[in-house]
Amino acid sequence: MVNLSQRKSTSALQKARVGSTIVLAGWVEKSKHLGKLAFINLRDREGYAQIVANEKFLGLKSLKDLTRESVVAVKGKVKTSKAKSGGKELELVELDVLNRAAVPLPIEFLGGKVETDMSKRLDYRYLDLRNPRVFAIFKVRSVMLNAIHKFFRDNEFLEMQTSKISEAGAEGGAELFELPYFKKKVALNQSQQLYKQLIMISGFEKAYEIGTSYRAEKSHTHRHLTEFWQLDVEMSFLDGIKDIMSVQERLIVSVLRAVKKEAKSELELLKVNLNVPKLPFPKINHSDACKLLGLKQGTDIGTEAERKLGAIVKRKYKTDAFFLINLPENLTKFYAMHDDGIGRYVDLIYKNNEISSGGQREHRYDILINQIRNKKLKPKDLEFYTTPFKYGAPPHGGFGMGIDRLLTFILDLPNVREGVLFPRDVERTGP
Ligand code: ATP
Ligand code: MG
Repeated sequence: MVNLSQRKSTSALQKARVGSTIVLAGWVEKSKHLGKLAFINLRDREGYAQIVANEKFLGLKSLKDLTRESVVAVKGKVKTSKAKSGGKELELVELDVLNRAAVPLPIEFLGGKVETDMSKRLDYRYLDLRNPRVFAIFKVRSVMLNAIHKFFRDNEFLEMQTSKISEAGAEGGAELFELPYFKKKVALNQSQQLYKQLIMISGFEKAYEIGTSYRAEKSHTHRHLTEFWQLDVEMSFLDGIKDIMSVQERLIVSVLRAVKKEAKSELELLKVNLNVPKLPFPKINHSDACKLLGLKQGTDIGTEAERKLGAIVKRKYKTDAFFLINLPENLTKFYAMHDDGIGRYVDLIYKNNEISSGGQREHRYDILINQIRNKKLKPKDLEFYTTPFKYGAPPHGGFGMGIDRLLTFILDLPNVREGVLFPRDVERTGP
């Protein structure tokens, strides 16, 4: 039996001393028989290793039955490879088949090819993820998330964890998923909006969370899911939206720098040339954006207009990232702070797509109630939101950023589903 406690990775093989004995374990990407020799291409999450079995290896014949994608543990002697690619290989001494894979495989991904259509790939996501090109996306995701946590820790934000179940959506509406809950009905949260504001009233001052949000988005777009991961950030005692933008642009720059440095080989594999935008990011007023796009003032800038605006800004400022700020009142929510009919809003557009929305919230109770009335809503229905503002709410604001979207546009992925392990949309609820 090969001793798994001695297991090393395929990248450790390259650093191992020639002549030493090491143990590797992983998946058989393929195997080949040439007379008295057999070659196994073993894959683990670090990469590949070539295993050579010669006539000294007693189980040589049995290797013919080794199916692709079976899991094996091997013990062998480190040798210098004769192949053109150089490096080291393992001369097989002992082999354990830990799990034999059935034939044929339901999807094909030999040599990192991504040929099967997305829907079938997602049906067999556990196999699809064995493809190093697919797996690399999730290594980048992990590096990206670590960098986000590091940024907020370094800047003295507290990590918060809020509930995803509530009696009423902070923003209400048709996009709510309702579910039975004992004798009541509850909804899955569309955002952390309410909770992060409550925490500011509690005195957290600076807080962030990475959690899921749920929206019954009926659309089939490249950038919408029904369950997505959102970075929520909220800060107290801010001096207008410039403080929100300053945090976001520094966050983006530090995350992109970390990805460039720590996921270099993954970016190469995915053929992504990542540029880090310069600070500060350009700021475009909503009214100026409408002029640039030839739209009527007060038009909601949607996906198509964002794309056009992104192209205009790229030509003018040579950057992939900019802020779209200051919304006219017809487009604002009741909870936003306003200056003479202009809402203190900030959207971050990166690679022609919205990746975050935020702004400063109205913290003054009486003005809040007036805004609710002006929006033709009933203050009574929103008491769950407004009551806490009676008892000492600091000025505050923040933003919500789509984690899956950020990854999608960092890696120029064609679809947000590529960067989510088990995506959920109108049709897909499994595996
Ligand atoms: P869009 O206009 O693109 O539908 P939104 O303005 O409705 O987005 P917000 O409520 O502003 O979305 O949410 C903040 C961020 O969360 C968005 O900028 C986006 O990055 C992300 N996000 C929102 N909805 C989804 C979704 N259905 N799937 C994936 N990410 C989403
Ligand atoms: Mg938005």
